[in-house]
Amino acid sequence: MTRIFSGIKPTGHLTLGNYLGALRRWVDVDQRRADALFSVVDLHALTVEHDPARVRRLSRQAATLMLAAGLDPALCTVFVQSHVDEHTRLSYLLECTATDGELRRMIQYKEKSARARAAGESLRFSLLSYPVLMAADILAYGTDEVPVGEDQTQHVELTRDLAVRFNQRYGHTFAVPRATRPAVAARVMDLQDPTSKMGKSHEPGAGIVYLLDDADVVRKKIMRAVTDSGREVEYDRETKPGIANLLEILAACTGPSGQVGPDGLDPRELAGGYDSYGALKKDTAEAVIETLRPLRERHAVLASDIGAVDQVLRDGAERARGLARPVVDAAYRAVGL
Ligand code: ADP
Repeated sequence: MTRIFSGIKPTGHLTLGNYLGALRRWVDVDQRRADALFSVVDLHALTVEHDPARVRRLSRQAATLMLAAGLDPALCTVFVQSHVDEHTRLSYLLECTATDGELRRMIQYKEKSARARAAGESLRFSLLSYPVLMAADILAYGTDEVPVGEDQTQHVELTRDLAVRFNQRYGHTFAVPRATRPAVAARVMDLQDPTSKMGKSHEPGAGIVYLLDDADVVRKKIMRAVTDSGREVEYDRETKPGIANLLEILAACTGPSGQVGPDGLDPRELAGGYDSYGALKKDTAEAVIETLRPLRERHAVLASDIGAVDQVLRDGAERARGLARPVVDAAYRAVGL
């Protein structure tokens, strides 16, 4: 059976980008057709300055939202990365496989390190090695597919390179995984700056829709989205990034029969139905609110019984450990330890 692994970092409150780019597909498609593991990858939250209590809170919140979105522990494995030691055990072997040069070429590293330098902040070494730990997250489970948004494609490519290199050097040990992407909304952009992605670790801003935002807040954020001074509703990511982003969000949130579903409409076709930006924004806001409504309702129920969420995470970690240990043990043997 196909093995799937993917994760979410608890570096902030989950956004509409996380939902449309990743989580919704995990729920609607991946958990039903494969043996899937979904992790709150909390170790990755330590690559930048962090507040311990906040990381703990956000980890639990992310797990609760994953379940509220519809991940079903009877169908898939949901767990917290730091509960399974195999990730860090394997990461070191992969650090001994990766090169300094290839890690410095990662776009996210370049962007984040440039920002930190500009602000005069020192860089944690783990910011550079982060894609290696991510590779360990994936390879420890013999993963075939990694469903991710566009921003993570390069890291999955690196994971493939490391798997192939390790296998060539030490004998076949790892499955070589591939990234899979959603058809629409693989890169949801910030509503106030549609040239940069809607990211949960960015400063909280008016351009980010959080999954737990009230309907009124969602409406306000979308109605105030930055567009351009034109009037034509056209899908063009280059010249009309704000409008293209709204069309993608609307397409992703509106199924063919007006139902919310994984097979959103084509944003190009949707554009033809609008003769004003205002009408597009209004429909987008309502579609997002309807998409998030059931998730918010289930979140409220789950958040009132956090013991049950913790139990799911304990069971998930136990299963994950059982799957990862033989793979990581084999990797240790392969390198001569
Ligand atoms: P973030 O960048 O918000 O911190 P993570 O790195 O935790 O998100 O990624 C969790 C998943 O959400 C990944 O599969 C990532 O590709 C996806 N994702 C994150 N932001 C977006 C976005 N703006 N649009 C589409 N997918 C996204």
